[in-house]
Amino acid sequence: ASAAELVDRLTLVVPDFPEPGILFRDLTPTLADAAALRAITDELVGRFAGAFDLVAGIEARGFLLAAAAAYAAGTGVVAVRKAGKLPPATLVEHYELEYGAAALEIRADQLAPGTRVLVLDDVLATGGTVDATCTLLERAGAHVAGVGVVLELTGLGGRERLAGRDVAAIRAV
Ligand code: 5GP
Repeated sequence: ASAAELVDRLTLVVPDFPEPGILFRDLTPTLADAAALRAITDELVGRFAGAFDLVAGIEARGFLLAAAAAYAAGTGVVAVRKAGKLPPATLVEHYELEYGAAALEIRADQLAPGTRVLVLDDVLATGGTVDATCTLLERAGAHVAGVGVVLELTGLGGRERLAGRDVAAIRAV
C-alpha cells in the first residue's frame, strides 16, 4: 500500500478534541504501524532528496518523523521546542493557534549559516506552527529547504500562509 493509503486506513478522526467543534486527526496508530512509518518516512525523504542537510521536527509529533527521516537520509536532527524547555541562549517566535497562542524555541548558534533544513510535522492546519518554525530557522541563519507533513487539512489556509515555500503532504483532506 502507498503511504497515502496507509494514512487513510490508520488515522483516526476524533470529533470535539481538544475543543468542541474541532475534528482532530489522530496519527498515533499510523506512526505505530511499521509499514506506515516506513512508507511515510521514505516518501518525505525522497520528495526532498539531496535538498537538505538537517531535519527539524516540531514538538511533539514532528519529533517522531524528524528522527526517522534524518536517520534515513543520513543527516542530523534538531528539535523545535515549545517555549520554556531549552536552556539559554534561545530564539523564540510567538504565534496564534486555532485555539489560543503559543511560542516555539530553538537554540541560538546551533545552525551553521546556510544549513538547508527540512521541516517536518504531523499535521498542517492554519500553517501558523510551520510558519513560526520557518521564521525561527531563518532568523538562526538557516535556509528552509522544504516542509513535509503527513496530513494537510485543506480549507484552513495553511498552504496559502506558506506561499513561496515547497510544501509536501502525504495526504490532503
Ligand atoms: P497550525 O499551526 O497549522 O494551525 O496547526 C498545526 C499544529 O497543530 C501541528 O503542530 C499539529 O500537530 C497540530 N494540529 C492541528 N490540528 C491537528 C489535528 O487535527 N491533528 C493533529 N494530530 N495535530 C493537529
